[in-house]
Amino acid sequence: MMKQYPKRIKVGIIIPSDNIESVTLTFPDPSLYEIESDDRIDPTCKTPRALTVSAGQHLKIRQMSDSLNNDFAVISDVIAGRQFHWRKTIDVSLPGNLEIENADNVLILTNDVPLEDYLACVAVSEMSGNCPDAFLESQMIAARSWLLANLRKKHPELGIDVCNDDCCQRYQGIAGLNTQAAIIAKRCAGKILTYNGEIVDARYSKSCGGVTESGNNVWPSENLPYLSSVIDGDPPFCGPQYINDADLPIYLGNVDEQHSYFRWSKEISQGDLTDHVNALHHLEADCILGLENEKSGPSGRLLSCNLVFVDSAGIRHTHPLETEYTIRQTLDSSFLFSSAFTMTPSGENQTNPEKFIFTGKGWGHGAGLCQIGALGMALSGKSSDEILRHYFPEADLDTI
Ligand SMILES: [Zn+2]
Ligand SMILES: [Zn+2]
Repeated sequence: MMKQYPKRIKVGIIIPSDNIESVTLTFPDPSLYEIESDDRIDPTCKTPRALTVSAGQHLKIRQMSDSLNNDFAVISDVIAGRQFHWRKTIDVSLPGNLEIENADNVLILTNDVPLEDYLACVAVSEMSGNCPDAFLESQMIAARSWLLANLRKKHPELGIDVCNDDCCQRYQGIAGLNTQAAIIAKRCAGKILTYNGEIVDARYSKSCGGVTESGNNVWPSENLPYLSSVIDGDPPFCGPQYINDADLPIYLGNVDEQHSYFRWSKEISQGDLTDHVNALHHLEADCILGLENEKSGPSGRLLSCNLVFVDSAGIRHTHPLETEYTIRQTLDSSFLFSSAFTMTPSGENQTNPEKFIFTGKGWGHGAGLCQIGALGMALSGKSSDEILRHYFPEADLDTI
């Protein structure tokens, strides 16, 4: 068991791969902040209402009050959904201190934030603050466990504990933090999941599609025995009997697209798929034929397969796709929702399919907590304890 855990963490808000050269910060209440600068800005001057900072400047912006407040600094055009189909830019209002540094002519903006404030914001960024209490509580406990099991692991070169996005946990500031979510955050402060006395690396994804995937299938190089595959209810908690697609937008995070996630379908043309695959894997495919050697897990997610194609001379080739992530990235330029799908060729000519129809289930890797399923459980009156025991049957609930 972790003997001590940090009271504050450092979150990367703008990281070098974003390639951002300048950023605008707005201070609705400048009296909350004190700015310290190496250059250009007079350190004795008062905090302005707005400030544009370019790469090359080094600034420390200190928050002078500790309470969660709607007048916190707003950072414009922060990237949400890096690399995914839901990528967009949003303005975020962040608690805590900010620091702007320079890395090879692009900006790094980090947020030094109290750990529990960060977790409250994560819960209402991953899904919305309109979710029922039991959902928010389970999400906060899972997010706390994940965080403490993963501090500094994902971006060791950046000197941050985590980034602000789906690669770590979604952290979009306090905008979604309503009174109820703030109360729940206080109520479950310090609660975590453990397994054999260690903090559980509690992963989660949007929708398992009916059965969760085994963590060791999704991340074969890691040891995640407590992320076992579970049947997500009969009928499934993430299915339409518990939550229908029309109601889902009330509960989803504010960057998520309206879509059907439990079951979905998508058409991709031969031309689009070939161009994308060639660019991504540096291949010379002329025509994609489909997949072979497919291995899948209990959730129906493909874990590995070979992509089959012919080149312009008509010679057949295969290219291995070795993880569910690579499969989703390869078969759709905007990323497939999940690797639990069937890929059906369509068109007159069987040796040169015009397009492919993907029919799939679930959104995300599917291991650990199913967020929409946890929402379905909470809406039907289940407690956070019941939700966490369902998705992490081998884990115990503990408090640090
Ligand atoms: Zn990250
Ligand atoms: Zn589910």
